[in-house]
Amino acid sequence: MGRVDLHTHSWCSDGTCSPAELVRRAREKGVEALALTDHDTVSGWTEARREARRLGVRLACGIELNTREGDQVHVLGYGIDPRSAPLTRSLALFRRRRRERLARIIGRLRALDVEIEVDDFPAETRCSIGRPHVADALCRKGIVRDRKEAFRRFLRKGGPAYVPSMGPAMDEAIEAVRAAGGWACLAHPGMIARSFDVGPWVDIGLEGLEVYYPGHSRAQTSRLLETAERYGLAVTGGSDYHGPESGHEEIGETELPEDAFRRIEDRLGFDGAGDPKETS
Ligand code: AMP
Ligand code: ZN
Ligand code: FE
Ligand code: FE
Repeated sequence: MGRVDLHTHSWCSDGTCSPAELVRRAREKGVEALALTDHDTVSGWTEARREARRLGVRLACGIELNTREGDQVHVLGYGIDPRSAPLTRSLALFRRRRRERLARIIGRLRALDVEIEVDDFPAETRCSIGRPHVADALCRKGIVRDRKEAFRRFLRKGGPAYVPSMGPAMDEAIEAVRAAGGWACLAHPGMIARSFDVGPWVDIGLEGLEVYYPGHSRAQTSRLLETAERYGLAVTGGSDYHGPESGHEEIGETELPEDAFRRIEDRLGFDGAGDPKETS
């Protein structure tokens, strides 16, 4: 059994490489089971699946929804049907809210005498726009060196250009995933700055916890394992890969232990779920 990576982003959202490149990179790093989890879009699925079939990588269609419950309170959806009509509608709405938020961020930057235009963003990355796109635009203008500096100086929570997420509430996010036949998992719980209790979220349908994540300490990982056990939640893991030079972890860097993977394997919906039809 090779590596498993259930959390990755292509340039269909805020990753820096194409879906096919992402799959090639995974193959090179020995990842055998992979999930594509772009923010608020499944538009990379068809291309990624084509490459995954060619290279013999097992690929699942997933999604990541950034909620308005707080910075880093993100929901991962697995086992989803990318052609689901309710999901398509929800994602179009969430992406519209992202564009509204972007306009507000651009307004805040303008007030700081920093001019960026939506046209600054490369076409292939305009589907699901987020703060990393603003960071890249600031890089291209020579205002910052990389995404990290852009977040530190402007975009982080509390930063001068920060606008809180306008994403779905937790119940709306969980419902969007379930309506597509999938199950919802709390992404990188250890990165959530505020205190929270998963109990109420489990009550409204949360089914998994991303226990294995590069930013989690060993102590956090074992606490999260206990939480998953206590609430009967599925245990998942992934690197949150965002492509080369994104400043994020390498693909496959966090391995999901084989026993944890075996327990959820059937529920991940590897390959074969069909072609998404998506409009924004
Ligand atoms: P948004 O969806 O616009 O709220 O942006 C959230 C995304 O920004 C996350 O999913 C990460 O990909 C990225 N991100 C968050 N914090 C940082 C950071 N400090 N440096 C680089 N990227 C970050
Ligand atoms: Zn991201
Ligand atoms: Fe996330
Ligand atoms: Fe992510």
